[in-house]
Amino acid sequence: MPHSMREGLLGIENLDRAEIEAILKRARDFQPAPNESFKRFDTLRNRMIVNLFFEASTRTRTSFEIAARRLGAEVVSIAASGSSVSKGESLVDTLNTLAAMRPNAIVMRHSASGAPHFLARHLNTPIINAGDGAHEHPTQALLDARTILDRRPTLEGLRVAIIGDIAHSRVARSNVQLLSKFKADIVLCGPPSLLPPDLAKLAPGVRLTNDMAEAIRDADVIMMLRVQLERQHEAPIPTGEYFQFYGLRLEHLQLARPDVLVMHPGPINRGRELSSEVADSQRSVILNQVENGVAVRMAVLESVVQ
Ligand code: ASP
Repeated sequence: MPHSMREGLLGIENLDRAEIEAILKRARDFQPAPNESFKRFDTLRNRMIVNLFFEASTRTRTSFEIAARRLGAEVVSIAASGSSVSKGESLVDTLNTLAAMRPNAIVMRHSASGAPHFLARHLNTPIINAGDGAHEHPTQALLDARTILDRRPTLEGLRVAIIGDIAHSRVARSNVQLLSKFKADIVLCGPPSLLPPDLAKLAPGVRLTNDMAEAIRDADVIMMLRVQLERQHEAPIPTGEYFQFYGLRLEHLQLARPDVLVMHPGPINRGRELSSEVADSQRSVILNQVENGVAVRMAVLESVVQ
């Protein structure tokens, strides 16, 4: 396993291809076979993982908890609203307090971009970034890559359209970082207010368009994103209008490759980002993404903690 991950996982940006490939390969060992229940491992027995979530989360927090348990670790989950943060304790003091109890890693989600990077400089405990503001969500990009590679031999040359609120999306940023390292052909699409031109600088070769049909044409993968209402400071585009121009409907899929994969990191909003017919269609791999989240997080925890 890559040595750099002993210090934690803060983002995809600083991982190289070999490190990413090692995690994706190891995750395969943790995927249950069809119709089989998951396997239990004890590689992290006697280890302790703290999950510290300062922002709402269902799937990521649960997924990290299940991943830690399946490796035999103990896990404690703390939601910020029930913690001393609400008593005014600073972030560094909260983290130092938790670190004093000697967990082997802290999994952390925070609304401020860069919060885990800042804390990593103050702490010896490895930190795994479970989403920092609009910056990165590395395990999401890894599980997305695992989900694509379960169905396609390579990411190289795949045409990937990422559609929605790109401006506020850490999922988009982490995916662009990962996919560009593997030379995928990336198109980012959204309304002008959610697609600032400087996003083209995220990685070489990234293209931007406000036209959904253009983004989808010949796509191998369509990643839909939730509109991040909690991160927008202006009045949002009304739901109906948003869906009319940027909602994925069955007729759009005709423009894409016949075997196109439809992805979404969740939570999905039916009738805003995509129609129910698309979400429930054969092309949708949304629940496979959730399933792979556990296997990929097991691989990440193992490489950070062991
Ligand atoms: N669950 C993802 C995230 O935490 C996507 C979303 O919330 O829209 O970034």
